[in-house]
Amino acid sequence: MIHFNGLDPAEAERLYLLAEECAEVIVSVNKILRHGYASHNPDAPEDGDNREQLSREIGDVRFVVDLMLHRGDVDAHSISAYAALAKDRKAKYVHHQDGYGDNFFAPIEDGR
Ligand SMILES: [Mg+2]
Repeated sequence: MIHFNGLDPAEAERLYLLAEECAEVIVSVNKILRHGYASHNPDAPEDGDNREQLSREIGDVRFVVDLMLHRGDVDAHSISAYAALAKDRKAKYVHHQDGYGDNFFAPIEDGR
């Protein structure tokens, strides 16, 4: 039986993966906002600090996006075009990003 959304099981699974990994990024971001980048889970210090956790979860998202690109779920050119538009759109509403409006990625004083 075909589901009304027309997705095959592989497509649905990739969307589940994307949603799951994006949710895990949100959890990591909230932990950093509550406890800071340098904090870590005292019950699992081997997992690294919150910066490492966020990096891990962003990496998981990147993997799923790459998989979706490879399988044709989304288009790389569209993503790049939307990223360029997002830069302009976000520039209007950020307050603390050095160089915003000109170059989000301009060097900043602490070298990051
Ligand atoms: Mg993950």
